[in-house]
Amino acid sequence: MTDSLKSLRRCADTIYSCRSCGMCGNKMTAKVPYVCPLREATAGFDHFYARGKIVIARGLLEGSLEMTPDLAEAAYGCMLCGNCMTQCGATDRTTAEPLVDTVRIVEALRADLLQSHSEWVPEGYRALLSATRQYDNPWAAPRSAREKWCKGLDLPRAPHADCGVLLFVGCTIASTPALHGQARKAVHVLRAAGINPAIMGRDEPCCASVQRRIGAADMAADMVRNNVDQLNASGCSEIVALCAGCANMLANDYRAAGLKVRVRHIVPYLAELLEQGRLELRHPYAQTVCYHDPCHLGRHMGIFEQPRAVLRAIPGLRLVERNATGKNTLCCGAGGGMRVFESGVRALDIARAGLLQAVQAGADVMVSACPFCEMNLTAAAQTLPEPIPVLDIIDLVCAAVEDRG
Ligand code: SF4
Ligand code: SF4
Repeated sequence: MTDSLKSLRRCADTIYSCRSCGMCGNKMTAKVPYVCPLREATAGFDHFYARGKIVIARGLLEGSLEMTPDLAEAAYGCMLCGNCMTQCGATDRTTAEPLVDTVRIVEALRADLLQSHSEWVPEGYRALLSATRQYDNPWAAPRSAREKWCKGLDLPRAPHADCGVLLFVGCTIASTPALHGQARKAVHVLRAAGINPAIMGRDEPCCASVQRRIGAADMAADMVRNNVDQLNASGCSEIVALCAGCANMLANDYRAAGLKVRVRHIVPYLAELLEQGRLELRHPYAQTVCYHDPCHLGRHMGIFEQPRAVLRAIPGLRLVERNATGKNTLCCGAGGGMRVFESGVRALDIARAGLLQAVQAGADVMVSACPFCEMNLTAAAQTLPEPIPVLDIIDLVCAAVEDRG
């Protein structure tokens, strides 16, 4: 008989480290105006923030609760942003590391629900999984569409020996025409630094981040296993990922599954090129910019300073910070599949709140480094009475290196 609580049982230690103090719902300081953006955007019932989800997880493990259709709201009402984990006071006395891995707990809740009662999982999430089975990616983009972004760029193709840098574009950018410009700009910037990246084109695999975050743990594990071999055989010496979700997945899950190639997100890579003097940002950008830390890049990978260093290197750019910034940042609203939850209404509410905080901080422009952040913040910005432009760091770096002579 299959164990319907397999994933939750595997994280019982972290579930039982929770003291039910409720700080993940109530903490409020100058730097942390609120912890859980979803709780803030809803009526605030307990199941929308970490403590309530953990109470449910315990109830399931102890048999005082059973899986019901209502559980889907608790399981999928979460951006997996990790702010609750960052703010939680339950930490290891020696290492000061958080003991309550709220992201892992919510992923486990989703995995067990999907495994035992997939019919209760909202249709939008199941559609992403059906698309993965049919098209090898969650966005139902045929393989031929994956290389449209690079038309005319004449990029070398992996696998081949000594291909150097492999630009890992990711399904989201490759299958969204509005984001193709970002990938082209990344190539332009890398070439300005003397690097001609290779790509996998139609053979680039889906990293499995979306599938894993929405609870398809077994599907994601199979994808990772298959993709590790393909990437190890690519002939590249390092992988530079354009998408924060891909970078987090490749650097952590793939590494654990045997990926031997070094992985970085493009922004820290550009910070290093600037530091080495291989990239020069010449053209000024006289705007006040607020940087939104993507959760995957910031809290999950610890990359906070390098994006700011890249922005500060652009002549004329003035950088401002929201109160909640760096490790305390508030999710853009799109994490953890939130654009599917309640048809994306909450995702937009959360994004609008973040944009208004940037405007209050004096920003003319909001900048991020993740396609999910850019798409959700852009959609939310268009609903503001005075829309604030939303850009990716690559947009600004590309404009700053452009040869206008
Ligand atoms: S997750 Fe942390 S902050 Fe939230 S109730 Fe548990 S111990 Fe308290
Ligand atoms: S991970 Fe983020 S959205 Fe989910 S419960 Fe924690 S703070 Fe709220």
